[in-house]
Amino acid sequence: MTNHGFETRAIHAGQEPDEQTGAVTVPVHLATTYAQQGVNEHKGFEYSRTGNPTRVALETSIAALEGVAHGFAFGSGMAAEDAILRMLKPGDNVLLGNDAYGGTFRLLDKVYAQVGVTWTAVDLTKPELVAEAWTENTKLVWLETPTNPNLNVFDIAAVAAQAHAQGGLCIVDNTFATPYLQQPASLGADLVVHSATKYLGGHSDVVGGLVATDRDDLAEHLGFTQNATGAVISPFDCYLLLRGMKTLGIRMDRHFANATAIVELLVDHPQIETVLYPGLPGHPGHEVAAQQMRNFGGMVSFIPVGGADEAHRIVTSTTLFTLAESLGAVESLIEVPAGMTHGSTAGSPLEVDPALVRLSVGIETIDDLLDDIKQALG
Ligand SMILES: *Cc1c(COP(=O)(O)O)cnc(C)c1O
Repeated sequence: MTNHGFETRAIHAGQEPDEQTGAVTVPVHLATTYAQQGVNEHKGFEYSRTGNPTRVALETSIAALEGVAHGFAFGSGMAAEDAILRMLKPGDNVLLGNDAYGGTFRLLDKVYAQVGVTWTAVDLTKPELVAEAWTENTKLVWLETPTNPNLNVFDIAAVAAQAHAQGGLCIVDNTFATPYLQQPASLGADLVVHSATKYLGGHSDVVGGLVATDRDDLAEHLGFTQNATGAVISPFDCYLLLRGMKTLGIRMDRHFANATAIVELLVDHPQIETVLYPGLPGHPGHEVAAQQMRNFGGMVSFIPVGGADEAHRIVTSTTLFTLAESLGAVESLIEVPAGMTHGSTAGSPLEVDPALVRLSVGIETIDDLLDDIKQALG
């Protein structure tokens, strides 16, 4: 499978026709327990929290798409992040990119802080700041790229090299890019984490989280934690994710094409002050993005003339773009991160401009999307 192209892996990796029946899609294995031939003698499955055949198919798929040896599936992106962070001990420190998903920040700032794990926000557009911020307690650097919601771009290879020089780990949240656009492990990331709820699922009907790694020691931690703490994903949700992931490539190409057309409209529009999109040649991360990504993705943020009030007016004036949290699905969404997805960052170094509007550009007919944005901007 590893020799095949991305789309072939997305459709086939971990998903050979069912041995018994020939079914070409992976069955949803609902059984919670498995018959044993003798004590601890079984066909690879004993109890469904520990291992489930539909989940194994999904885990094999994400590993193949990220180009690594191991995959792990969890009940949500946050559960996946939590499973990773459980390797930390009281007193440990995490360097966090200074723009990140609000829930990731909240997990560190409200949950892990309680057990004595600290975080330090770092502007990772300057990878050399990793060495400066690193302390003897620092264990890892955690970053997203492009970031949620400001669409900053971080140089994965440079940040990973900095973390490794300090003897630490580099963890990349690849939710915005997906493995179709960028494969962080090939650039040095030790762990790749996904909110599969977003582009991987792609249809706003499943919550899930995935982790991929090429490192056997980290895989052991993840497998142990998955079973020991039990934040597993249901077999049916595994099936939905496998189904969504088969079309990831063609969806991402269309998300990108539609986002590009929307960006062209926005940059010339008198009602728009700033457009944040890594595909714009003037974006500070454009060159790094062009190097480490296949295309620039489907997420677009902008600041309208008129500030937060105007932002609130715009997000309630669209008709096709639905005002809602989440992202990455076939339908277009619009939101104000400061008041919605990123509320938890208020007052922190990760605080979001209240006038920022975030678009998750869907794969509807582009002229309809352009008309909707035009009428909403007025
Ligand atoms: C949504 C999101 C998460 C959290 O994932 P859930 O599936 O909602 O738990 C993590 N990181 C990023 C970048 C996200 O957008």
